[in-house]
Amino acid sequence: MADDVKNPWPELPAPSPGLGSELDVEVAIIGAGIHGSALARELGLRGVSCALIDKGAIGGGTSQWSSQLLHGGIRYMLTGDITQMREGLRERATWARIAPSRVKWEAFWMPHGGWIEGLTHRFGIGLYDHWGSDRPDWPAHLRLGAVPREVFEADPRSKGGPYGGATAYADLMTWDRELVRDLAASSTAVKLEGHDIESFESEGGELRAARLRDRRDGAARRVTFRRVVFALGPWHDKAMKEWFQDTYKWLRLSSGIHLWFPAQAGCERPWAIRRPQGRILFVIPRDGRLQVGTTEREVHSEEGGAVGILPSEREEIYGALEAKLPGIPWRKLPVLAEETGVRPLVRPTQDRMGTSHMSREALLETHPKFANATMVLGGKLTTARALMDRLAAKLTGRECPESRTLPLQKWDGQ
Ligand SMILES: Cc1cc2nc3c(=O)[nH]c(=O)nc-3n(C[C@H](O)[C@H](O)[C@H](O)COP(=O)(O)OP(=O)(O)OC[C@H]3O[C@@H](n4cnc5c(N)ncnc54)[C@H](O)[C@@H]3O)c2cc1C
Repeated sequence: MADDVKNPWPELPAPSPGLGSELDVEVAIIGAGIHGSALARELGLRGVSCALIDKGAIGGGTSQWSSQLLHGGIRYMLTGDITQMREGLRERATWARIAPSRVKWEAFWMPHGGWIEGLTHRFGIGLYDHWGSDRPDWPAHLRLGAVPREVFEADPRSKGGPYGGATAYADLMTWDRELVRDLAASSTAVKLEGHDIESFESEGGELRAARLRDRRDGAARRVTFRRVVFALGPWHDKAMKEWFQDTYKWLRLSSGIHLWFPAQAGCERPWAIRRPQGRILFVIPRDGRLQVGTTEREVHSEEGGAVGILPSEREEIYGALEAKLPGIPWRKLPVLAEETGVRPLVRPTQDRMGTSHMSREALLETHPKFANATMVLGGKLTTARALMDRLAAKLTGRECPESRTLPLQKWDGQ
């Protein structure tokens, strides 16, 4: 068992002294994950005031349980979602420009069995790297394309398994929670972490104010605003039901888990292993450990990130590791940490497919009852900045090209 099962909710910082009980802002953002924090930065760049409100800590939800990749999504090469892939590749380059200290380029190896599969990978990956050729600060030592046989065979993951070789493609790794906190630090938002929303006030079909309670010291606050944005990740439907008695389901939820093992000698590059239904099993050396994930299980409760890991999910990962990478004694290795996250996926109108086939694309919708309320539904770390740039342009009527080039401020609690 893991000796360091990740605490789902990071501790809250101490309450900020000097926060008044009445606050007035142009935009209230509810939910401080990657979307809420990216929107706070966009509004700050446009000189528009906002409050960033979260029941927990900034970046303490789904945005800290991801696979930590800013990627075009090599799986879209398999599912044919090329538009989404190309947007991801563009955004990947933007992150490399604005957050150079929170990202790391890597050459991911996709292993193949026979030569036909190898040829197919080489073609698909060649296209992926061609479309993703904008790679600021790409390290010269990383090699893409066919992995030389002796290099492949030196990796213990190549031993005794079904693979005869690999093709390397480029992608960007990040540290997800740090990235979110840097976005929030790069904003001028009033930051209201650890605040429960007790009620809303509305007038003439618009929301006007929220009444909040600080979970740490019980202080009551009232925030008035002209517009409000709900960026609640997987908790969206639950919150809408609680606050406005909405019963419509905007989302379907799918959980994914990661297991962290000790680093293994010779495992230097991350591997991306194809699995059925367009899924990928990642085996990524990072921060002195080996991160393995992720699974895909539909979650029917509305509990967002608070779902546990099922023994069958853990077993699924072990089964895949043993079948694909038998050269490593997985079950004998200690699990140093495990974590679970819940993906918010936009529910399609024709709602019959499994979650692994559902798009990771995000949607911006106006709340059906409140004309000044926007809902952010679904999405990914990778495309969050671009989506929030579009939303900020819509809310303020102002474009802001600096959003794509201005480096982020570092969160100073690091
Ligand atoms: C296993 C897994 C792997 C993933 N891997 C990747 C990846 O490699 N690359 C990628 O681009 N994307 C990845 N994703 C997707 C990505 O992590 C999410 O889409 C993204 O983090 C969602 O961000 P968000 O801001 O919408 O939600 P969140 O980060 O969940 O933020 C929502 C916030 O709302 C707050 N909140 C909830 N309810 C309330 C309430 N009642 N009142 C006040 N605040 C509330 C929460 O505390 C939370 O902080 C992955 C997701 C999972 C689950």
